[in-house]
Amino acid sequence: MKLTIVAGARPNFIKIAPIIHAILNLNDDKINYRLVHTGQHYDQKMSDTFFKELNIPDPDINLCCGGGTQAEQTAAIMIAFENELLNNPTDLVLVVGDVTSTMACAIVAKKLNTKVAHVEAGIRSFDLTMPEEINRMVTDSIADYFFTTSKTANQNLKNNGATDEQIFFVGNVMIDTLIANRDCFRKPVFFDSMELKNKNYIVLTLHRPANVDEIKHLQETINEIVSNTNNLPVIFPIHPRTAKIISTSDLNNSNLKIVEPLGYLEFNYLVQNSKAVITDSGGITEETTVMNIPCLTLRNNTERPETVSIGTNELIGTYSKNIKPALELLFSGNWKKGSIPELWDGRTAHRIIERLLEINKNHE
Ligand code: UDP
Repeated sequence: MKLTIVAGARPNFIKIAPIIHAILNLNDDKINYRLVHTGQHYDQKMSDTFFKELNIPDPDINLCCGGGTQAEQTAAIMIAFENELLNNPTDLVLVVGDVTSTMACAIVAKKLNTKVAHVEAGIRSFDLTMPEEINRMVTDSIADYFFTTSKTANQNLKNNGATDEQIFFVGNVMIDTLIANRDCFRKPVFFDSMELKNKNYIVLTLHRPANVDEIKHLQETINEIVSNTNNLPVIFPIHPRTAKIISTSDLNNSNLKIVEPLGYLEFNYLVQNSKAVITDSGGITEETTVMNIPCLTLRNNTERPETVSIGTNELIGTYSKNIKPALELLFSGNWKKGSIPELWDGRTAHRIIERLLEINKNHE
């Protein structure tokens, strides 16, 4: 079976790693895969590091479609991926997550009458101000096979007209990566020089438009955080999108430690040993749930409701005055304890490959 795997941005690399490893672990060549990097994230800290640390083989091709507006990037990826598929026809295109590359490549594949499988299908925030929600809706409207992380996602897909035969509840590939790498997490170089102590610092990540696009709101949010963390250091690995908007000089507080985006092993070492994480990321709410680390999400909604109903995550919203009461709850020692959602067990990629082989067999 010929399989084209698409990846474009940081969270994609973390999701494809276990899928590629599961293919390489097959002791025959039943799946002949080709890895296409769209180039959506191109800088070393957002891309190359993940290939090295997570042992992902080099992509077969990089379409170099970085930068531009949402429309420019979608268009560039579509043009380049159409060319790629015409030159390298395949049986199935596998897309993961909810980034621009996911949607753009799904559209191109379908228009060339190629089947599409979507990993992490069916999750919904129902918030169309998020570009990711549009990417999810478009991809799930046209894909042929859906691999899901939760039963809620299954239901969302059914509400959208997908049939039971198309939906495979397999668990969470991001957690496969977490479990596979947990023993190799690496202390960041600054950990000792900043005199960080286990459970005595907070990790902060912010990159969504609702939090970072308006500099005054971003400053207010960060000030509210550092003023209410009981003097604990707040480590802020700054996303390139956020770094474009705010500079270190705009944020003057000795407890705020801005660092470059970290590699996967260092970032998750930091998370695993932290008191709590404050974030607007989706993937991080899943990882903190599995590591049982309190997570405060600065969003009004989530496409991953199980991280709140089962896990350690709480939605704090984007209004900065909500931060203080949430941090008071954290420091009172009464943050909820989470448990691990069904099938988030490190075996998801294996299940995906089994299903793909069955699908392929039925079509032979
Ligand atoms: N991550 C990382 N280094 C960082 C920040 C995040 O390796 O400095 C990882 C994190 O562990 C998670 C993923 O990047 O696996 C989340 O990516 P992001 O927040 O960009 O995307 P989202 O999950 O919101 O789509």
